[in-house]
Amino acid sequence: MPELPEVETIRRQLQRSLPRRKIKSVFVYLDKMVKAGPGKISNIKSGSKKFSAVFAAGLRNRTITKVERRAKYLIIKLTGRRNLLVHLRMSGQLIYLPKKDLKNPLALSMAKTAIKQTLPGKHTHVEFIFSNGDKLFYNDTRQFGHLRLVNDKEMRDVFAAHQLGPEPLTLKLKEFSAIIKKHSNKRAKDFLLNQSVLAGIGNIYADESLFASKISPLRKVGKLKPAQQKLLFASIRKVLKKAIALGGSSIEYFLMTNGDSGSFANEHLVYGKAGQPCPVCGRPLKSQKIGSRTSVFCAYCQK
Ligand SMILES: [Zn+2]
Repeated sequence: MPELPEVETIRRQLQRSLPRRKIKSVFVYLDKMVKAGPGKISNIKSGSKKFSAVFAAGLRNRTITKVERRAKYLIIKLTGRRNLLVHLRMSGQLIYLPKKDLKNPLALSMAKTAIKQTLPGKHTHVEFIFSNGDKLFYNDTRQFGHLRLVNDKEMRDVFAAHQLGPEPLTLKLKEFSAIIKKHSNKRAKDFLLNQSVLAGIGNIYADESLFASKISPLRKVGKLKPAQQKLLFASIRKVLKKAIALGGSSIEYFLMTNGDSGSFANEHLVYGKAGQPCPVCGRPLKSQKIGSRTSVFCAYCQK
């Protein structure tokens, strides 16, 4: 599932390709991928053919000005104060192809059996065509992601409805310690995964950050000494920044906007490695369900 580094990777790449691109037309192949509100852009029920037509008409002839990110949301800003919000959820992909590359086939998953295909493919649900002939494809195999066209107020309402916490990469240590104090009773893993506490961290980066800071996912954050809080804070930043620099973790479906895979999965020390030797002490890594997610950690090194 794409987390902060994957979404930030996409943002940085789209920020290089999309600004100044004018949308000529939009095709929605699967209506349920386009969502409304929470404020409505029309009174038509979302998920319907009619709603997709309103969505496409709302984008047509607008020019993209900037690509931003909030938590795991991509914000594609358009002229006329419209924002296209994209949430990739489990398996969403945004592939940007310049006109000259449209005939190049791409493998859309990390599976060894993945067949190369040209886009739009079977899992392309929305297609954007720009006035210069370039195209942007939204692919989503599991179909949990969504796109919304909202004005600025509606965008703020979406974020408020999800109670998104602060961004870990712009947070100061002092603020981080204050958040720990406020949530002192939470276990470290629950603390990191809670999007209203810190936004954008999921299972991969929570497990990797906790291992890097030698903190057990079961440890109550209120019990962390100031030096440990500082180490956790620094580890989160270090892990996220390195992951962004390497284009994120491509495990199942995550791809960069040109179809290449990110290479941070090669750097994972514990995530997905239950039973394998701890890279520090050599003892087998433990796997345990904490909250609703499986955590992998070293019960010896992480206290
Ligand atoms: Zn260990």
